[in-house]
Amino acid sequence: MTQSFRFEPDRCANCFQPLPDDEKHKPALFCTELCNSIAKDVRYWRKALRNGSLQDDAETRLVLHTRIAHLLGGGYNAVARTIPAGVRAFVFGRDEVCVQCGAPGQEIDHIEGDSNDPENLQLLCTDCHRAKTATHFVPATEEQNAFVDRLEQERVMPDEPSQLCDDEMFWQQVERILRPERINRIRYAATGFNPDTSVQLVDQIRALKYRRPGFDDSLEDDHSARGLDDDSGYGPDSYFAKAMARDD
Ligand SMILES: [Zn+2]
Ligand SMILES: [Zn+2]
Repeated sequence: MTQSFRFEPDRCANCFQPLPDDEKHKPALFCTELCNSIAKDVRYWRKALRNGSLQDDAETRLVLHTRIAHLLGGGYNAVARTIPAGVRAFVFGRDEVCVQCGAPGQEIDHIEGDSNDPENLQLLCTDCHRAKTATHFVPATEEQNAFVDRLEQERVMPDEPSQLCDDEMFWQQVERILRPERINRIRYAATGFNPDTSVQLVDQIRALKYRRPGFDDSLEDDHSARGLDDDSGYGPDSYFAKAMARDD
């Protein structure tokens, strides 16, 4: 059985632009954090569609739509926005409750931009956080809607992933193999490392994949990109009618 999901060594796994020959480049297999996010969201979407949670679970829909809105707004900078544990603890200790309504505090909000300076962080309850995020939604343009439609038709709907990075069951394992391999290749390029190795590696990965039994139905990513309220009126037909304004 020949399976063909696209992957090209030394090119972005999402958009296939050449990757910079820099071993410190992150994320290693993508040209930008945005491309990494697109692939992540495609996998989340594929998995949620196939395990039924997209149909059955309002929370999953909410998370997906918020993620898509972030993508359309230029991407959610998850790396920059990951708050170090010590800072989290500090903000929880300092604010204690939701600074807006006094309910038990649940989530740390970036007041503006991506900075993790405690001055830029505040404790909110989930409802206040969602309400705040929703104020950053702006109507999606026709072009943005077309982009999301294309993602769905070309990368979410087909049962066989069309790109290796879309493989919701397998990408995380594949990435753990391909990332160090790519870094080694950059590092040893001058000393005659054989670039065909990664092509062979992909073939091995393909072979492996189809020996792997079962379907892992746990969602790969946590529900970290929440943002708008369950009853904020985004029905099935208008899920993607919003984009996140830059600077959320
Ligand atoms: Zn890319
Ligand atoms: Zn609140």
